Amino acid sequence: MKRKGILIIISGFSGVGKGTLVKRLVEKYDSYALSISATTREPRPGEVDGREYFFLSKEAFENKIKENGLIEYACYCDNYYGTPREYVERQLEDGRDVILEIEIQGAYKVKKQYPDALTLFVMTPDAGELRYRLESRGTESEAVIEKRMQRAAKEALGIKEYEYIVVNDKLEKCVDEVHRIIMAAHNAAHRNMEFIDNIRKELEGGE
Ligand code: 5GP
Repeated sequence: MKRKGILIIISGFSGVGKGTLVKRLVEKYDSYALSISATTREPRPGEVDGREYFFLSKEAFENKIKENGLIEYACYCDNYYGTPREYVERQLEDGRDVILEIEIQGAYKVKKQYPDALTLFVMTPDAGELRYRLESRGTESEAVIEKRMQRAAKEALGIKEYEYIVVNDKLEKCVDEVHRIIMAAHNAAHRNMEFIDNIRKELEGGE
């Protein structure tokens, strides 16, 4: 059975700890390639260009859109975010599982282009915990936190479109749960049609 790379979309409310989750997943298991997005938002303290994001000016970002250099992009709380096309396509061709950590509008756009993409939504156990995590990160102003909480309320309406939800309560447990979901997704019948068709043809030929 030939193992094909899966495009994995991980979304979740701002502050839920998706970044940490995804970083740990890539560290712990070597089968994943993590896509680095482009954004026009300012780097947070400690963030490095080309590691967390490619930090671009609005003009540079708009050029990338014009050149068809992005698989998708979205405007989130007044900034652009987008997925560079080349890296993702190359990794998938090489048979690697590629992780996109993107918000919900981008997830819909990717799913349209890649119907086989696996979609997961990361949640906190409750809304109070989400606010607590956003506030304790200490990197956003009260106004930005408010905007992100309002955005979370809107995003909650779209969670049912995702295939899986995972609750990020204990990091390691959540990382392993996401890994197990991805491993199981590799065995989904619709992702193995070539293998199934070959066996069917052999069976038919043997009759
Ligand atoms: P943050 O500013 O907290 O790093 O990210 C804000 C939101 O943008 C998060 O929900 C994150 O998943 C999302 N995001 C990051 N990169 C991309 C991207 O390339 N495309 C889209 N559509 N959303 C992204």
